[in-house]
Amino acid sequence: MPRRKPSQLTILDRNGERGERPIGKRERSLDFGERWSYAPAPEAHSYIRLRDRYQLFIGGKFVAPKSGEYFDSVNPATEEKLTEISSANEKDVDLAVKAARRAYKNIWSKMPGRERGKYLFRIARLIQEKARELAVLETMDGGKTIKESRDIDLPLVAAHFFYYAGWADKLHHAFPGQKMRPLGVAGQIIPWNFPLLMAAWKLAPALACGNTCVLKPAETTSVTALHLAEILQEAELPDGVVNIVTGTGETGSALVTHPDVDKIAFTGSTEVGKRIAMALAGTKKKLTLELGGKAANIIFDDAPVEQAVEGIIAGIYFNQGHVCCAGSRLLVQESVFRQVIRKLRDRISTLRLGNPLDKNTDIGAINSRAQLDKICELVDSGLKQGAQLVQSRAHLPAKGYWYPPSFFTGVTASHRIAQEEIFGPVLSVMTFRTPEEAIARANNTRYGMSAGVWTDKGSKIFKIVHQLRAGVVWANTYNKFDPSSPFGGYKESGFGREGGRHGLLPYLSLR
Ligand code: NAP
Ligand code: MG
Repeated sequence: MPRRKPSQLTILDRNGERGERPIGKRERSLDFGERWSYAPAPEAHSYIRLRDRYQLFIGGKFVAPKSGEYFDSVNPATEEKLTEISSANEKDVDLAVKAARRAYKNIWSKMPGRERGKYLFRIARLIQEKARELAVLETMDGGKTIKESRDIDLPLVAAHFFYYAGWADKLHHAFPGQKMRPLGVAGQIIPWNFPLLMAAWKLAPALACGNTCVLKPAETTSVTALHLAEILQEAELPDGVVNIVTGTGETGSALVTHPDVDKIAFTGSTEVGKRIAMALAGTKKKLTLELGGKAANIIFDDAPVEQAVEGIIAGIYFNQGHVCCAGSRLLVQESVFRQVIRKLRDRISTLRLGNPLDKNTDIGAINSRAQLDKICELVDSGLKQGAQLVQSRAHLPAKGYWYPPSFFTGVTASHRIAQEEIFGPVLSVMTFRTPEEAIARANNTRYGMSAGVWTDKGSKIFKIVHQLRAGVVWANTYNKFDPSSPFGGYKESGFGREGGRHGLLPYLSLR
């Protein structure tokens, strides 16, 4: 089929309404996708047992919320209501904290590490057994592609439980010569971009160290946490060791301010993280924060460009850009700028957007209407401030929340799209001449979560990496995760580490 010559650019306004406008002189709209396509290959989901209503998980049982209130969880790819989720109020949170305290005092803190480890191993194995079902649920409730939930999220969820199961009876080897004890009851608040994986990052190390937990999932993606609760029951985890309270930000806030919580672990936006830090200032509660990011991916002129472009694609379009470590700024050495842009253009035009349950889909749905609005607003600011937009002309389904993979050129450091976290599939491309300039530009952000370096020279990698103010730096790859490797930020990206031996520290008191 001949390539259609596009003359219009898709622009989504604040309400998510799609419009078209004539394409500017230096803008491009890409349309390779119609030349060929795969046949649909949807993952089966008829066997999925979604309940009409999900209750709270407190003291090892599913219980109706004292508030008597429920809210809808929708599939962001279709806007269909999937189920109803309980809205926990202060009373519910209090019951959950009490259950966690009882379990801590009577059982979990007294149990030898080798016994705690057995439960974690059991949970990990059950997650593996039910991985396919959990992946489908994750995709239906959150909009991420099945390719990612099945091949990345779920294997990592099980791997985290396996990894920390191994530490449970070896804590004295992790911190030799030091006396240690668990902190007590941990309140854990997580976002919607990796619902089960964030739950695993929080629960596994806390339990391995002997703490009990109250987990608050994100409002738009609570379903898989409640299916995890069923797995905890099946693993016969003692009642109250893990409690799950669903609800809005107010539920999270009630957990943060509850007087009998010893530790808060929060992953989410920098804005809410700051509010939590203020609420806890002057209290005895321990706090760790994993917040936003604005990572720079740096391509030097000696980098393998094909490989680098694949990494850039994985860095920003993975999970629709809903990743705190997304490489949302691309810094390209001037001499290879044209080459990189050409390849990037070709590549994004081949990304398949659509049904997230289809095994061939590369770009799934944006998690919520609110998130789509945020993306549209920031793209709008980029256009107003004079940057040029290049966008895939991928067909956007009529229902659901979607944003086509896009990138901006002509971006300057002062543009909002270069400074603010966009949390969507939109990349800002800038250039640099020298390594010093690349470092200065990469560090010119209030965030410090992650970064990427692409070069053929190992010595350059070591030199650059040490000067980047980012918690995680990938070299000649991007967005690779492993439970044994610590993850966390600097500056306004938060503090504390999750993963690896470092991930035990936030859940122990050492003397
Ligand atoms: P968010 O609004 O900060 O929400 C995160 C969690 O906090 C949700 O469970 C939310 O509940 C809850 N919450 C909201 N207001 C609260 C309050 N006042 N007190 C206590 N809890 C409260 O973040 P988001 O927009 O959902 O998630 C995206 C953000 O998370 C991005 O900025 C991203 O960079 C960051 N993130 C960071 C990491 C990391 O590892 N550093 C990982 C993933 C995401 P509701 O869902 O009901 O609002
Ligand atoms: Mg949902």
